[in-house]
Amino acid sequence: MAGAPAAPGPTTVGGRYARLMLRSVILAASRSSQVERLIATAPFTRDVVRRFVAGSGTDDALRATRELVADGLAVTLDNLGEDTVTAEQATATRDEYLTLLRMLSGAGLTPAAEVSVKLSALGQKFDEQLAYDNARAICAAADEAGTTVTLDMEDHTTTDSTLDILAKLRKDHPSTGAVLQAYLRRTESDCRELAGAGSRVRLCKGAYKEPESVAYQSAREVDKSYVRCMNVLMSGAGYPMLATHDPRLIAIGEDRARWFDRSPDRFEFQMLYGIRPEEQTRLVGEGYTVRTYLPYGEDWYGYLMRRLAERPANLMFFGRALMSRT
Ligand SMILES: Cc1cc2nc3c(=O)[nH]c(=O)nc-3n(C[C@H](O)[C@H](O)[C@H](O)COP(=O)(O)OP(=O)(O)OC[C@H]3O[C@@H](n4cnc5c(N)ncnc54)[C@H](O)[C@@H]3O)c2cc1C
Repeated sequence: MAGAPAAPGPTTVGGRYARLMLRSVILAASRSSQVERLIATAPFTRDVVRRFVAGSGTDDALRATRELVADGLAVTLDNLGEDTVTAEQATATRDEYLTLLRMLSGAGLTPAAEVSVKLSALGQKFDEQLAYDNARAICAAADEAGTTVTLDMEDHTTTDSTLDILAKLRKDHPSTGAVLQAYLRRTESDCRELAGAGSRVRLCKGAYKEPESVAYQSAREVDKSYVRCMNVLMSGAGYPMLATHDPRLIAIGEDRARWFDRSPDRFEFQMLYGIRPEEQTRLVGEGYTVRTYLPYGEDWYGYLMRRLAERPANLMFFGRALMSRT
């Protein structure tokens, strides 16, 4: 894509290789309980977490939502947690979402605020039916609260199951949204399947470590795939949700909105809490709908590590937090 070096020299290749290595190491660390213990108990960690996570309780989530909505942003709330291993944990996660939705509605924060849900937190890895039942209860509560649910997408081994559950949920709750990841080779075709009327699709690059057999490996290929997928969604009949912080892709999104005559109420931009907040405000000022993905809860480790992996420069926050304590 324009802006990338035309003929990368050895230093650039070396730098790119080092970045890829660092990304792999961080993603591997995200699965290590030993590293998790080390980082979770480090005294400076709280300061870093606070930048990307609203807080640990529902009250923190509500407070941050109120502030974002007052700034003209829409919000999607994620109760942090994934890879649940017992039915009790899955049920507790479902109940947390039911409480959250009641509180959002009671505080008059719906429909500006909706929820994002990881099926793995609802039991998908060990009991698909349980995950579906839990998700259905959350969708019913969202209907009652006058808002929507989006199913987050996790690693590629869960894509078919997640899309199957989405199709079943949409029969009774047609506004349930899905996430598609541009780094997967299958995604352009999935976009065609999901570009129909009433379908809400969040398009992101993808945050997991995936093998070459299923996923594009270079940033350039992922970006090109993102644009192809965006073209399908923006020219379709559904509601595209363009989730990226990438200035070039945001500019292409604005261009496609003009090209396909999509008014700001017929698509939205989405970004993560704590990342490029000034760009989120700028887009709101331009009249676009911008939704901030707002995570909260105790189980922040996997989420934080994925943020560090996609932008190792974020490791600087650890450095700064450490320095300010020494
Ligand atoms: C709302 C939302 C929901 C998501 N849901 C999912 C999901 O369900 N499943 C999933 O796999 N992934 C999800 N993701 C994560 C996504 O897949 C990417 O890993 C993540 O968004 C980083 O990709 P990017 O498009 O921002 O581009 P990147 O390639 O990470 O960044 C591109 C450019 O954006 C700018 N940029 C990025 N970060 C910063 C920063 N911190 N400060 C300043 N500039 C920055 C820089 O210019 C950078 O070069 C979600 C992302 C968002 C925004």
